[in-house]
Amino acid sequence: MPETRATPRPTRCLIIGSGPAGYTAAVYAARALLEPVLIQGIQPGGQLTITTEVENWPGIIETQGPDLMVQMEAHAKAVGTQVIADHVISLDLSRRPFKATCDSGAVWHADAVILATGAQARWLGLPSEEKYKGFGVSACATCDGFFFRGKEVIVIGGGNTAVEEAIYLTNLATKVTLVHRRDALRADKILQQRLFNNPKVEIVWDHLPDEILGTPADGVTGVRLKHAKTGEPREIAASGVFIAIGHTPASELVKDQLETHMGGYVVTGGISGGISGGFSTATSVPGVFAAGDVTDHVYRQAVTSAGMGCMAALEAEKFLTEQADAAARAAE
Ligand SMILES: Cc1cc2nc3c(=O)[nH]c(=O)nc-3n(C[C@H](O)[C@H](O)[C@H](O)COP(=O)(O)OP(=O)(O)OC[C@H]3O[C@@H](n4cnc5c(N)ncnc54)[C@H](O)[C@@H]3O)c2cc1C
Repeated sequence: MPETRATPRPTRCLIIGSGPAGYTAAVYAARALLEPVLIQGIQPGGQLTITTEVENWPGIIETQGPDLMVQMEAHAKAVGTQVIADHVISLDLSRRPFKATCDSGAVWHADAVILATGAQARWLGLPSEEKYKGFGVSACATCDGFFFRGKEVIVIGGGNTAVEEAIYLTNLATKVTLVHRRDALRADKILQQRLFNNPKVEIVWDHLPDEILGTPADGVTGVRLKHAKTGEPREIAASGVFIAIGHTPASELVKDQLETHMGGYVVTGGISGGISGGFSTATSVPGVFAAGDVTDHVYRQAVTSAGMGCMAALEAEKFLTEQADAAARAAE
């Protein structure tokens, strides 16, 4: 039979995703001689490719997000990872080897899978928001709050994420205005109390963002809001706008196959290779590991994602060794 695109290609370790989690998993898996294959997906480099300055990657005082990801890709390739420009459209985890079918028609059979498909911040969808992303508009206070120290900022949203981001930003900004489209927050009561008691916080109820205001020279200068019921406009000046209306984990591929929680985040913390509990990246299917933002609704940082990528590769290596040992014993 001639080989076609759909002829399954075997790999011991298939890594899905090319953000910090995927590339770090690739470096560790390659150095453990697993000859990993990494499928990049439609956003090669992941979320950091849509930001500008990154100032919290240890060892590099300041870099650009896209540059950091180019270096990670080069590192993964240099140690022997096969990096493939393709997108996984379906994944069958019902039996081993696991089967991944890609957009190009290529099919991979994998003894272990590391899922590092990340998450996407939810945005408002305003053209002006797009224009000022990275120039005053952000979806991550931990990442970008530092750039607004001593300035006034606005947070959009009313859930736990928005309230946590607003409280965090009060450590850096002179004033934080939280804008919410309703007259009550959805966030946990204890978080709400902390927010209401903070003298740096002002809350604007019943308003929606209509346009992010700014200039090419200054970046963001404020937000034009409209009243949720009357439509009456109102402008608030600020140097930064944090959109905090939630994140969507990219877990569609595994939604009926792996245990998920909190709106689709993959549950990890099973037992694999003698590593158990909260310190494991093992999912509900043995041989499938999840790392980075697809499993993390709390920290959502490049460095934590990379850390989980490392853990996933080490656990995949232990899992594959155990499988090989068991097969050898069975053959005796
Ligand atoms: C604007 C912005 C600025 C940020 N700034 C910082 C910062 O300064 N410092 C910091 O630490 N963090 C920052 N973050 C957060 C950081 O980017 C994320 O925590 C990190 O990128 C998560 O890494 P990850 O590898 O889990 O996933 P991601 O970076 O989300 O990458 C996911 C990867 O999976 C791939 N993928 C998805 N589905 C498929 C599929 N079906 N098949 C194949 N591949 C697939 C995508 O193509 C992508 O390559 C920022 C985030 C944003 C949005």
